[in-house]
Amino acid sequence: MKFASRASPRQAVSFREALFTGLAPDGGLYHPVERPDLTDLFPSFDDATPFPVLASRTFERLLFPELSAADVERVVRRAFTFTPVLSRLDSRIALVELFHGPSFAFKDFGAQFLAAAMEDFLGRETGRIQILVATSGDTGSAVAQAFFQKRNIDVVILYPSGGVSALQEKQLTTLGGNVHALEIAGTFDDCQRLVKEAFQDAALRSRLRLTSANSINVGRLLPQSLSYIFAAAHRGVLGDRTPLVCVPSGNFGNLTAGVYAWHWGLAVRGFIAATNVNDVVPVYLETGRFVPRPSAPTLSNAMDVGNPSNFERLEEIFRGDWRGMAAEIRGVSINDEKTLETIRDVHAATGIFIDPHTAVGVAAARAILASSKDLAEHPVLVLSTAHPGKFSETVKKATGSAPVLPEKLAACLSLPKRSVRLGKTLPELSEFLLQTFG
Ligand SMILES: *Cc1c(COP(=O)(O)O)cnc(C)c1O
Repeated sequence: MKFASRASPRQAVSFREALFTGLAPDGGLYHPVERPDLTDLFPSFDDATPFPVLASRTFERLLFPELSAADVERVVRRAFTFTPVLSRLDSRIALVELFHGPSFAFKDFGAQFLAAAMEDFLGRETGRIQILVATSGDTGSAVAQAFFQKRNIDVVILYPSGGVSALQEKQLTTLGGNVHALEIAGTFDDCQRLVKEAFQDAALRSRLRLTSANSINVGRLLPQSLSYIFAAAHRGVLGDRTPLVCVPSGNFGNLTAGVYAWHWGLAVRGFIAATNVNDVVPVYLETGRFVPRPSAPTLSNAMDVGNPSNFERLEEIFRGDWRGMAAEIRGVSINDEKTLETIRDVHAATGIFIDPHTAVGVAAARAILASSKDLAEHPVLVLSTAHPGKFSETVKKATGSAPVLPEKLAACLSLPKRSVRLGKTLPELSEFLLQTFG
């Protein structure tokens, strides 16, 4: 599979090149330039197929001939030491729990694969590369966990001082080793700007090998399609009918990965794009007009995105035909009040705690099942994107009780925080980078 930007479709690059550069030379996003047909492969998976096997078989096909089957299997085995877990919520809806990885959120699927692939590609090279990421919370912990102790790779995470939850800060600052947490006296936007400035700085670029690990990197995007393939293979969970998949969405990377799987031949009845009140994509699906706007803060804050960067990729899959897109993807926007109500209802009915992002998904799935006659017969797989313990304040507010924290999360709360405090200017960041890695 090769990748190119929309503006330069003839300058296609390899997976490896797309992985290490992140963006095309013209500054555009990479899109796959081929559409592999995997309709023969997907039906060979069933609920007995282990996740790493399914992942290897799929990626072998996607990345042939650039990577051999043995290359793919080596990376997959290192990346996926955890799997999605399916659980029935009621007779119509099943949860696909994507939070059993090292940082307890779905971003582990993309981050772990990216890190394992980069380490493998670097192989016996002797120089080190420096991964630079800005985070407002969940991305940083997934990336930090994924690159922790990877050979020849240093990770620098910039986060806004006082701008992430106590638990998130501990996840970022207690690993140590090759993971460097920089606590920036500024906002998340300042952190993002600093990372951008560092990549554009000629002096830094000549002395370091700066690399990004953004969610727009195809090395993070593509592995997210595996969860859909895995979930769809579990045909018995809700009966035999083709499922709809409901995806709590912000930047729309996760949903785009699912739509790729469908594009390659996965049998799903369609998608539900579940957003909080940041609903520019549901509005587009309704009206054909894409109007980005500043994001509004909500309880499902990993989805507070006003201008989703992966929208361009969705548009490309449907060749700009919004009616075509709207036929496959239904948009639903859920507010905070409904989010809390859904967490409470689900807990009261089943004893299951769900986090606010998953709650947006469950509420959206219920809205579609209630309003659409032709879909009412189909089961819905709702992607559950974070462990409820990561958002225990909100869960407690809704249900009156708090979920038990996974042991590893509870343990990192008692470790000492190790971060470097920096101002929000490039000279301060440059000095740190050059002294530490130069
Ligand atoms: C990042 C994130 C999302 C949104 O995923 P996108 O790919 O940005 O749409 C949803 N839930 C959680 C918990 C997340 O961390």
